[in-house]
Amino acid sequence: MSSDLPVFNLVNVFRCRDLLLTRCVQPRLGQRLEGQLLHSLASALRDQLPNGISRDSIYESVRYLAGQVLEPRNGVELCWRLAGNIDRLKSGVAVCPWTMQPAVEWVPLQILRCQPGRNRRNKLGYNFSFRILAGSPCPMQITAFWSRELCNMLARRLGFSRWLEGRYPYRNAVELVGLRLLGELTPDRSQQSPGFYEVAVTPSLKKWNVENVLQVRCRVKPCPRGYTGACSLCVLGYKECPAATHRENFVSRFCAICGTENAWFDPESTMDRCITCHHKELTRKVD
Ligand SMILES: [Zn+2]
Ligand SMILES: [Zn+2]
Ligand SMILES: [Zn+2]
Repeated sequence: MSSDLPVFNLVNVFRCRDLLLTRCVQPRLGQRLEGQLLHSLASALRDQLPNGISRDSIYESVRYLAGQVLEPRNGVELCWRLAGNIDRLKSGVAVCPWTMQPAVEWVPLQILRCQPGRNRRNKLGYNFSFRILAGSPCPMQITAFWSRELCNMLARRLGFSRWLEGRYPYRNAVELVGLRLLGELTPDRSQQSPGFYEVAVTPSLKKWNVENVLQVRCRVKPCPRGYTGACSLCVLGYKECPAATHRENFVSRFCAICGTENAWFDPESTMDRCITCHHKELTRKVD
């Protein structure tokens, strides 16, 4: 692990992103960005961004939107990309949507999702989705396969206790959802989309993980709803509870595949089969 890890002030990144969104994007939603309107967006962004960023870097960073209608989705992506690359913009470089990874780059990641699965060598493990929170490919979502052993090892680095008797016992890979870490993007692992192998957890990221996720998840602080069961078994999604281990609230209904009356479904995966049937499908051995 290299000692020259970059420092990301994510609070500033999100604050800047939200400022650009409310001041520059929201008043322009629905506009087709042509000619003067594109210039007007670029100069509005420049007014809200920190000083020392050239008109050219910003214009070149928004020009890919020429002719497109500004919508919530492309608007958020634009604002997040700019806010997550302030140093790059200050150095006079435009930040356009990611197409390739020309150099090694450490980026902050947040784990969004964990699903059981197999890798190309048929080994059981978990497919994780991550949001890139800052850096040249932000805010892209990327994926990685982690074996159970790797999850065990990383859990400790991410903030869980070493032992089950500790304050923050780790039991299940899905409990890694919501945590933040750094990943080292490398050109050779980024052929189709940004890819990483080396990870690192700085003391400040570990502190964030503990204070914002693990304290509630491990009941060092009470569950906001007063539930006593494990968060990894909770039906609430993280849209509603900060300690949840999946995004959407689970839905209960009849599963036609296994014939269970009140089976739980994850709307983020599929409403065609219950979670149990879906996980069986995901982990089925292919010969
Ligand atoms: Zn919970
Ligand atoms: Zn909860
Ligand atoms: Zn089922």
